[in-house]
This record gives sequence, C-alpha cells and structure tokens, in this order.
Amino acid sequence: MFHGSSLSKHDCNSASEDLKRQKGCEADLAEDDCYEVLGYRFSRCQNYYLMRVPWVWEAIEIWNWKEKGFLPYEGSWLKQPNLYIEIIEFIDKIVSQAKSKAK
Ligand SMILES: [Zn+2]
Repeated sequence: MFHGSSLSKHDCNSASEDLKRQKGCEADLAEDDCYEVLGYRFSRCQNYYLMRVPWVWEAIEIWNWKEKGFLPYEGSWLKQPNLYIEIIEFIDKIVSQAKSKAK
C-alpha cells in the first residue's frame, strides 16, 4: 500500500524560513530551482501537492484501487482513459523508485 506520507521529507510547518524558501513550501520556486520528477516539472514542495491539491489524494486512491485489481472504467487496461494510465504509471514509477531506495 502506498501512503503519501512516505513522500514527505520534512514538515513544512516546523521548517525554518530558509528551508521553506528553498523547498517551495509557501510560494513557487524560481524557474531555476524547479525540480523534475520522472520528466514532470514541479515548482512547489512535495508536501504542498499532498496537502493542498485535492486530486493528488484522488490519484493515490485510484492507484490503490488499481493495486487491488479495480479499474475505474469498464473494459481492459487498454480501454482506460489516457490520463488515468499516465497517473497510474507515474505513481508506479515513484513507488518502484522508493522501493529500490529502501533496499
Ligand atoms: Zn515543505
């Protein structure tokens, strides 16, 4: 099972002002400080997405359902919407990265 908390590396609330600025907890990072995860560009702290962007949790939830064998739409994997497949593949990659780091 994948939990969003495994992604968060620090607590935005207790972080120093410097760290908040450096990680993008409260405002978008400068263009040069944005970071990429698996080809997607991010301008905020990871926690920002987990805490403030509601669809992130929905994405994690549908990923957990997929792990249990449930697809959101009728038909096979190939019949699912592209965005769904893109989201699932992105989370799959994050999870396998996290697992290989844990070893
Ligand atoms: Zn943060």
